[in-house]
Amino acid sequence: MISFDFEYWRPESIADAIQLYQKLAGAGKQPMYYAGGTEIISLARIGQLRTGAVIDLKGIPELNVCQFYGEVLVIGANVTLTRLAEARPFPLLGDTVRHIADHSNRNKITVGGNICGRFVYREAVLPLLLTDTHAVLTGPSGTRQAPLFQLFNGTLNLLPGEILVRLLTPRRDVELPYVTIKKTKLEEIDYPLVRLAAVQTGPWIRVAFSGVSEEPFRSREIEAVLNNASLPLDVRIEQAIRRWPAPILDDILGSAEYRAFVLHNALQDAWAALKGGSA
Ligand SMILES: Cc1cc2nc3c(=O)[nH]c(=O)nc-3n(C[C@H](O)[C@H](O)[C@H](O)COP(=O)(O)OP(=O)(O)OC[C@H]3O[C@@H](n4cnc5c(N)ncnc54)[C@H](O)[C@@H]3O)c2cc1C
Repeated sequence: MISFDFEYWRPESIADAIQLYQKLAGAGKQPMYYAGGTEIISLARIGQLRTGAVIDLKGIPELNVCQFYGEVLVIGANVTLTRLAEARPFPLLGDTVRHIADHSNRNKITVGGNICGRFVYREAVLPLLLTDTHAVLTGPSGTRQAPLFQLFNGTLNLLPGEILVRLLTPRRDVELPYVTIKKTKLEEIDYPLVRLAAVQTGPWIRVAFSGVSEEPFRSREIEAVLNNASLPLDVRIEQAIRRWPAPILDDILGSAEYRAFVLHNALQDAWAALKGGSA
């Protein structure tokens, strides 16, 4: 049960949503955009989130687009994880999100909500960080477009009132050889101890992680260590883990030491899958 009252709005255009946001913010309602609602409702139920109004984005057709336009895949922010997993316009993204939560929650969770949320894992962002994906954001000051890799630094850098509208990924990136690995404590559908997604571009492997630290990330430095072909793979992995850019999580799912062990194995598996055993 949610212990406070809030207004519910469902605009049919981006312009109306932004206008509403400004009006409600001006009236002190601390409005929030609402996509699948899974995080908003979970946090409101346990008293970790309070708002006077939600602006449901589901009635905005532009946010539900999911198709190629020429050489660019356009994914609207409101596209659900189920749709991405079933239609697989971007196989790495589809295979990464198919094990997030259970089927009925995946029917609600949106790619935009997953990326914009505050939950630690945000697994949907990993394939997008590995590709030349651009995000289109619209807010009270207009529309901007930038590489997601620049906009996402642990969290998506949204200005007040800004909406993540769509994600644009070049077809050539969607077709890169890939691997995605989720290691959980027990069940296949569970929070990840380690989630890794990787793509191969020529001899280079790009890799992004979730579940290992407080925030999902891709680090050029870690990638350079892992791709240093002058050293054996095990040594590179050890070096990468020693230089990890944030503390490795130590929680109820697993100790930091255990996570590092799982991470080591996941990286070995990823290299074997992409390079067929040749380091
Ligand atoms: C049982 C369960 C298990 C889960 N397990 C995992 C897991 O293992 N890994 C994982 O990655 N996720 C997992 N999730 C999903 C995650 O916890 C969030 O619930 C989900 O990603 C939120 O997506 P949503 O579409 O419901 O967003 P909402 O709850 O609607 O919104 C989340 C946040 O994003 C903002 N927002 C949404 N859309 C936009 C937009 N277009 N522009 C600007 N801001 C926006 C909202 O204002 C809000 O702050 C799980 C969820 C559940 C219920």
